[in-house]
This record gives sequence, structure tokens and C-alpha cells, in this order.
Amino acid sequence: MQLFKCGRCDQVLYFENTECVRCGAKLGFLPERVALSALEPDGAAWVAHERPGVRYRFCRNWEHSACNWMLPAEDPSPYCRACRHNRTIPHLGDDARLQAWRRIEVAKRRLFYTLLRLRLPTPTVDSGDPEPLSFDFLADPADGSRVMTGHDNGHITIALSEADDPTREAARVAMGELYRTLLGHFRHEIGHYYWDRLVRDAGEAELARFRALFGDDREDYGEALQRYYANGAPEGWQDTHVSRYATMHAWEDWAETWAHYLHIVDTLEMAAAFGIRIAPDIADDPAMEADISFDPHRVADIGRLIEAWLPLTYAVNSLNRAMGQPDLYPFAIAPPVAEKMAYIHALIRRAGRLPA
Ligand SMILES: [Zn+2]
Ligand SMILES: [Zn+2]
Ligand SMILES: [Zn+2]
Repeated sequence: MQLFKCGRCDQVLYFENTECVRCGAKLGFLPERVALSALEPDGAAWVAHERPGVRYRFCRNWEHSACNWMLPAEDPSPYCRACRHNRTIPHLGDDARLQAWRRIEVAKRRLFYTLLRLRLPTPTVDSGDPEPLSFDFLADPADGSRVMTGHDNGHITIALSEADDPTREAARVAMGELYRTLLGHFRHEIGHYYWDRLVRDAGEAELARFRALFGDDREDYGEALQRYYANGAPEGWQDTHVSRYATMHAWEDWAETWAHYLHIVDTLEMAAAFGIRIAPDIADDPAMEADISFDPHRVADIGRLIEAWLPLTYAVNSLNRAMGQPDLYPFAIAPPVAEKMAYIHALIRRAGRLPA
């Protein structure tokens, strides 16, 4: 993520802002410019400082304080680039569900920010694509059963209960996870979606490369799941996998590693935006130092990402401990995990037609 600037008064703006705190300008995000812009009213439409000459309107979900993205005034869809993928949203007459949905939308927009920056395809249901991307945000039904967060052929379901902090934290502890967030769910589930597109649909040669790194995706998923819940992750999982859950099945290893790749790219961009450099006085060790003055979405060499990421995690984890908080990034990236990330990095760069 980056920092933005108010085009009217130069105030620094954050991605979720809807109004400039200094000059009061209304703000909207222009996905085609990947920019948050100050807006001036123009009749029933808006003109953006970041792109004068185009008349805009807000996404329909703006009316529910659930979106700050814009679309050209003449666009036939009522919804922005991110919200037109919503297939099911909760009943908005229920205030608790409305609040939960807003939190989900915040995480979803952050996901889409990264997809836009990486130029990954996000086909809508009416695009004619054989596997369009859509979202169901579902509350648990009244019969006591639970909605499962997951991915199925382009449909991503996020359980609304995951937006409730105590519920999500209880699930995290019960599953022995080190990290569980709404944004993490989006980054994980979208990983399954891009596995379909970038690996499965790319043919046997790609599948063979995938299997050499992540294992055999043809393994029975139900059995793998049962084994994982009965026995947990094998001893020494940290040497080969980024998380315990990644050991469950090749698909989960891919989705977990994919999610971490997005964590790293997005967090490094934010560090770069703040001009963060890591250079501890006490150490004379290049492995402890990082100069993050690059755009992580455009770096061809994955080594630069990992070499910047590790010192940054030492620093931010130490900052969190100083505040009595859990580590910001409670994971290690062993060499086999870095190899899997390099594979994902290469596939993303090919898919987004970014220079190799
Ligand atoms: Zn301003
Ligand atoms: Zn929207
Ligand atoms: Zn998964």
C-alpha cells in the first residue's frame, strides 16, 4: 500500500480516508489510476483532481459507507471495479451485519489494490470468462450450522462471523494459528482462484513444475483434511512450509505461500512510502539491513523482496514486542518457502505481463 496526497491541499491521505481532514474535500479512489483523489462536485457527478476531464460517480456501496471507490459517470454498472464481484452481501437492515460487512469490504478493497498493482485478471460474471471471480459474504444460518470460508471455482465465500474479533480470535487459538485476519482470508482464498487460472489451466508442464515444489495436488483433499485435523502439522514443518496449515495439502501450501507473497509486497510498499530503512547501529551484518527504496510490485528479482523483508520483520516484530503486542509477522521464510515464492512471483509477473 502507498500513501496518497490531497490534490487540493497536499495533506497526506490514507487508503480508507473518505474526507480530507485538513481541507474537507471528499475523497474517492480511482482504480484505473490506483490513486486516492480529492473530488470537486460537478452537478450530480464528481471531478477528480487526479484525473480532471473525466466525470465520476461513487460506487453504489458508498451509500452504505462500505466503499470509497469511483467509476466513470457513464459506466453502466452501479458498482466499482471491486464491488461488482459481490454476489451475496448480508441483509443491511441488521446493524451488526452491516458493521461486519463494512469491515469485510475494507479488507476486500485492500486485496483489490494489490491485484490492480500486479495487473492480475479479475473477470466479472458478465465478462464471458469461463471462471469469473465472485464473492459471497454470508452470515451463519439460524439452524446453528456454520458458514465455511473457502473458494470454489471462482466463488469466494467469506463467513461474516470472521469480521467479529472475539469469534475470529477464538478460531485462531482453536486452530493453533499464528495469524488470522480478514485480509489474510482474502489473500489466501484468492490464491486458490489464481491456482486454477495460472497453474491448472496452464497445462501439464506447469502442473509438473508446481508439483515439484508444492507436492501432488491430486492427493484426496478430504483425507488430507482429516489427517491434518487428527495429527496436526508434521514435526519440523517450519523448514519447508510457511505455516502449519500449508502442510495440509498442496493446494493449501500454494494458497498460504501466495497469501504471504501478497503480505510481503503490500507491506514493503508501505515501508517504502514511509522511507523506512533498517540499519541497526549495533550490527555490522548486511542480513540485518534493508533499503526499501523500490516498488515491490515491479521488482523482477524475488531476492530483493526477501532480502528487504527479513530485516523489516526483525524491526517491526521488535516494535510490537516493545508495545506488548504479538509479532507483526510471526513466521520464518525457510529456503524451500522462498523457492515456492519465487515460483509464484514468476507466474504473477507472467500473468500481469510485467518485465521478467
Ligand atoms: Zn485536502
Ligand atoms: Zn465499490
Ligand atoms: Zn485454502
